[in-house]
Amino acid sequence: MIIFKKVNDIASFLNQQKQKNNTIGFVPTMGALHEGHLSLIKKSKQNKHLTVCSIFVNPTQFNDATDFEKYPSKHEEDILLLSRVDCDVLFLPVAAEIYPSGTTLEISYPLGEMENLLEGKFRPGHFQGVCQVVDRLLSIVTPHTLYMGQKDFQQCMVVEKLLQYKYNHVELAVCPTERTTSKLAMSSRNIRLSSKGMVTATAIIQGMEHAKQTLLTLPLRTIEAELTASLLASGFSKVDYVSIADANTLLPLEKWENDSKGVVLVAAFLEGVRLIDNLLL
Ligand code: AMP
Repeated sequence: MIIFKKVNDIASFLNQQKQKNNTIGFVPTMGALHEGHLSLIKKSKQNKHLTVCSIFVNPTQFNDATDFEKYPSKHEEDILLLSRVDCDVLFLPVAAEIYPSGTTLEISYPLGEMENLLEGKFRPGHFQGVCQVVDRLLSIVTPHTLYMGQKDFQQCMVVEKLLQYKYNHVELAVCPTERTTSKLAMSSRNIRLSSKGMVTATAIIQGMEHAKQTLLTLPLRTIEAELTASLLASGFSKVDYVSIADANTLLPLEKWENDSKGVVLVAAFLEGVRLIDNLLL
């Protein structure tokens, strides 16, 4: 695996690769890698792409300074993991490479209602920051395919909007959520949970699976309220949202119909860690 830290170096290397007719698969991450991230790298390799992973903890997508400061960083372990799955290129820039003129956002990305819903509502400015960094990274890496995880369901929808707006030649491949044996969604933030917390955290997926079974028998708002109550009873300190939403718009579904395309999305705090997960219904 080749490691680049400078924009100019990776850009000229990838240009040469394109001239040799290699296609580029790109997996942007914030590091502290786990099997979820590696599944994206493996998918890109299966598709025969020259596979580029980036590790950059993007300051502009954090609305909570403590969350940013506490974000785990494990570069040496990450490099070992990436080498094991045969990742071709790692891009490991410092902030000045990504934001040479500072982090002030010069344009506002047209994300519509999506940016005020769910994650957007509870993390104001988050999705503008996500678009800012993904835009910059795409302009450097110029991939054919961008690999992202369904774990961040709303992020995938936002990035799809960014691609339609500015990069309609780039394909987005959304990959399934990797889970532990107890079905907890893998996340870099799980490192901050105690072993008891890791067990408690499985209440999210259990609650979502239970919700899925009750769709036809209870009003959707009642299901959401019951899931919220069950998380609080399990030991979560706060629930930002539980939403049964239309999988195409993320607006709340009024009623479950046989042809509904729905998703249940959850964000909740446990031991000071904010966890998110979702399940297609
Ligand atoms: P992050 O480092 O959290 O910004 O995540 C980088 C990419 O990995 C994003 O596209 C995430 O959606 C994806 N990802 C994170 N966790 C998982 C998971 N458990 N399964 C699959 N993909 C994931």
